[in-house]
Amino acid sequence: MPEKITAAADGTLQVSDEPIIPFIEGDGTGVDIWPAAQLVMDAAAAKHGKKIAWKEVLAGQKAFDETGSWLPDETVETFKEYLIGIKGPLTTPVGGGIRSLNVALRQILDLYACVRPVRWFQGVPSPVRHPEKVDMVIFRENTEDIYAGLEVEEGTPEAAKLIRLLQDEMGWKIRPDSGVGIKPVSETGSKRLIRAATEYAVERKRKSVTLVHKGNIQKFTEGAFRNWGYELTREEFSDVAVGWDDCGGDPGSKILIKDAIADITLQQVLTRPDEFDVIATTNLNGDYLSDALAAQVGGIGIAPGGNINYVSGHSIFEATHGTAPKYAGQDKVNPGSVLLSGVMMFERLGWQAAADDIVRALEATIAEKIVTYDFARLMEGATEVKTSEFAKAIVERL
Ligand code: NAP
Repeated sequence: MPEKITAAADGTLQVSDEPIIPFIEGDGTGVDIWPAAQLVMDAAAAKHGKKIAWKEVLAGQKAFDETGSWLPDETVETFKEYLIGIKGPLTTPVGGGIRSLNVALRQILDLYACVRPVRWFQGVPSPVRHPEKVDMVIFRENTEDIYAGLEVEEGTPEAAKLIRLLQDEMGWKIRPDSGVGIKPVSETGSKRLIRAATEYAVERKRKSVTLVHKGNIQKFTEGAFRNWGYELTREEFSDVAVGWDDCGGDPGSKILIKDAIADITLQQVLTRPDEFDVIATTNLNGDYLSDALAAQVGGIGIAPGGNINYVSGHSIFEATHGTAPKYAGQDKVNPGSVLLSGVMMFERLGWQAAADDIVRALEATIAEKIVTYDFARLMEGATEVKTSEFAKAIVERL
């Protein structure tokens, strides 16, 4: 019988063998990639005696056409009630209303950790020589930073007021023709994100957590993020993890918590990727880093993501690419991003064996050079297949 997923007070999930999971198909290529990903997820679940009771909810263009709202209250309420959901890409409405549906969902449900695993699959075309050395998991803070949308536009009374206040109260001289944005970074927000990254590293037996920041310049926001990370390690994880300064870089059998400046990090993830494992970082840094790393392992078509609140249990897994409107309805694009987001969802449900099966079957399919257009155009001797055929090929290899 279909059952709701529930969370205990400590965030531990109770998941039956037939959980109800809300999904948003997504706009544009959502009609192609969603059914493909669903086919594979259903087959993998069935192999392990499980079944997902899918519950469609609306957002984006489809919601707007049917209800006049880009993000109906019912959709938000359903995600609140059923805790875990998954979504395809959504059109960002241009000119008014919601800035971004994705950002709105993250903020309403307080999904504070954006988790992006980045690894290479054998055979995937990559612009670097050793993509196999890339195996990182980025934990990006999702609710704060310059990304929180606290901005005033140049020339408005609000901007003039803020500029005057900053001049009068702080003595800060800001050009009158400026737009101004605010960058809040809190101890609460930083520590809960770094806690999630460290717990992940402990559970998955990873070697290190790197705190990526721009604290050499932005001392009281980015620098504080770094300091709170080391403080948290001493306060809560001293039995399993140790900060670089507290061990001289030699953590013994513990997880090493280290830090790196964001600009250097963008160089070093290219030149020495094997020195990075779990990464915890602020919102904007995480945005840049996730896309740069996704490119190293074959790009946007297969990069998965999850937005998670580890305390309330709320999570939404999502394709990280956009709606690619020029390909919509052509049964052409790669369903890998939403499918691997489904793998992350399975792991969160505790369905590790089914998740591993999907990854193995996907690897086997790509290794046989059965791929969608995006990989086919970069591979020699590839067999280019449609989205739906790619999904069937994966199911055959489950
Ligand atoms: P996009 O939809 O991500 O597409 C950019 C390019 O990425 C495509 O032209 C295609 O490259 C490649 N691509 C995207 N999805 C792919 C897939 N499944 N398989 C293989 N290749 C794929 O970015 P956009 O055109 O800038 O944005 C379109 C809309 O999506 C906008 O409304 C934007 O706001 C929205 N958006 C939504 C999300 C989200 O919901 N998470 C994220 C980003 C953007 P080639 O042309 O080289 O084939």
